[in-house]
Amino acid sequence: MPKYIGLLVIAVAPVLAQDSGISAERIREHTRFLSSDLLEGRGTGTRGGDIAAEYIATQLALAGAKPAGENGTYFQKVPLVGIETQPGATLSAAAGGNVLDFRWGDDFVGVSQTQLPDTRFEGDSVFVGHGITAPEFKWDDYKGLDVTGKVLIMFTNEPPSADPKFFDGRALTYYGRWVYKYEEALRRGARGCIIIHTTETASYPWEVVRNSWGREAPFVKLEPGAKALSLQGWITRAAGEKFLALAGRNLDDLLRASERADFRPIELGIQVRGHLPAKVRDLETRNVAAMIPGSDPKLKDEYIIYSAHWDHLGIGTPVAGDAIYNGAIDNATGCGILLELARMWGSLAQKPRRSVLFLSVTAEEGGLRGSEYYAAHPLVPLAKTAVDLNYDALYPWGRAANVVITGAERTNIYPLAQQIAKRLNLDIAVDAQPEAGHYFRSDHFPLAHAGIPAFSIGHATEFVGKAAGFGEQAYQEYNSKHYHQPSDEFQSDWDFTALAQAAEYGFLLGKDIANRDKLPDWRPGDAFHR
Ligand SMILES: [Zn+2]
Repeated sequence: MPKYIGLLVIAVAPVLAQDSGISAERIREHTRFLSSDLLEGRGTGTRGGDIAAEYIATQLALAGAKPAGENGTYFQKVPLVGIETQPGATLSAAAGGNVLDFRWGDDFVGVSQTQLPDTRFEGDSVFVGHGITAPEFKWDDYKGLDVTGKVLIMFTNEPPSADPKFFDGRALTYYGRWVYKYEEALRRGARGCIIIHTTETASYPWEVVRNSWGREAPFVKLEPGAKALSLQGWITRAAGEKFLALAGRNLDDLLRASERADFRPIELGIQVRGHLPAKVRDLETRNVAAMIPGSDPKLKDEYIIYSAHWDHLGIGTPVAGDAIYNGAIDNATGCGILLELARMWGSLAQKPRRSVLFLSVTAEEGGLRGSEYYAAHPLVPLAKTAVDLNYDALYPWGRAANVVITGAERTNIYPLAQQIAKRLNLDIAVDAQPEAGHYFRSDHFPLAHAGIPAFSIGHATEFVGKAAGFGEQAYQEYNSKHYHQPSDEFQSDWDFTALAQAAEYGFLLGKDIANRDKLPDWRPGDAFHR
């Protein structure tokens, strides 16, 4: 192993040093420390997580970055509430003297947005198809119906399409995500929102829903007086069939009906009642923020953001005797890159015109909560934020042949992104599973949702000198054996060249954006256009 590393350093160091001075070894050492057992998996609201945040703040200070958090500190407090619905939760449906009781976990899961230890609710149910209002696709499942106080029943996903102009063809749009369904229901004043699970519409089996909804989840603390759904939940297909049968309806018929633009919401005449006891606790956690000012007197009020989440899953269920979920790849690697970028930026004799903000967010694993909080409470104005370049889980498997920047093509900086890839001899990888909606699953997304052109600089899918298919095979192996497992641990034979390449790519891209005359934007007509 040492011989292998030595060879690589000799082969690789001169190339990188010439271009930028970015060091794969520094990224390696940050990754090694942040994923060590001492940090106990960097759980949100734990001592190990706090140490990680302190380490990142300290390294940013050493790189010459100034505090950009609250009250002259490197931190932004993120007040979260952990909610764990208790197994005694009940849900029932009644129509024409018939009552159906659903069982927690086997038939339904869910959580109350009220953030109260005890929530009871009831309301008339309305079936609203996919629950989508998308004027740009001339689609409206609500058709103006007032659903205030109702319990909405729907499917996840979106109308199937092969036409890139209609719901982006095969790719999943934000409208297809379950997160959107609950947001839209809340905007419309609904009491509750229940998604009927089918494996086809969700693209994963019930077990996945059950596992991820059956434990504590962090939420951003509700503002006093804010609206909240009494239930955001899911029921199984089988439970959904029985539910709809109470109204004399058939699930497959409704699924087909909901794929047509002339679909109209259906008042089912079924009364839904629920009781959700929950364990509720305050979670204290922090985003880390540091900045390096730009050199242009006017443009320095505008910012490039680099982001990477520092949290992972902490200590959990032991697997093969190991209970520490180290999160080496997910996402000590991204933090290592963030810190190396700060060091590079700090060492520039002539600073770029715009300023740069280094943002290491918390609670990504609990549903992008740290970045969601940042988007709602930005430390620099959203309208003056040029771009967010995010790093989340990069693979230390050698020299990358390509880079994944899904979402960049939606912005007017894509030509620049292409030029820089070419300059660094990297292909831009095509997203192999657009229907999986990866774009919505990392911390750039809440910033994009708030209007900032944003995307992740992701892990390579092809590596130089490796057999064709090596990248895919290594990815599958990581995903099935180590992803979100205690075995996502630092390995001394990892080769961090690809991470140095990803850092260099983001460095050149960020520097160029910081120096250009105009702020970047989304392509005209993009859903996130500001
Ligand atoms: Zn993760």
